[in-house]
Amino acid sequence: MDGFISLLVFAGLFYLMMRFGCGAHMIHGHHHRNGHSDHKQRESYKDPVCGMEVAPDQGYRKVHEGQEYRFCSRSCLDKFDADPGRYLRNTGEQS
Ligand SMILES: [Zn+2]
Repeated sequence: MDGFISLLVFAGLFYLMMRFGCGAHMIHGHHHRNGHSDHKQRESYKDPVCGMEVAPDQGYRKVHEGQEYRFCSRSCLDKFDADPGRYLRNTGEQS
């Protein structure tokens, strides 16, 4: 039960970060909140190919239709490049 709750909390925090990350910057202009606890990656990207989390300074980066994606490895990037729509289909968009 504990594990499930902390997973929920983590998911919630992650959602808030994703949701308000950019908006907060735009509203406040700047915020210098330098908590020196970097035991957790504040921003990590999810590799859309294999689902792994990739730290901002690791892996391969790709901007696709204005959205930034990160890939754990070159082979994941290549797979994404070959057929981006296949890995982005969960948005429900089709064009
Ligand atoms: Zn990967």
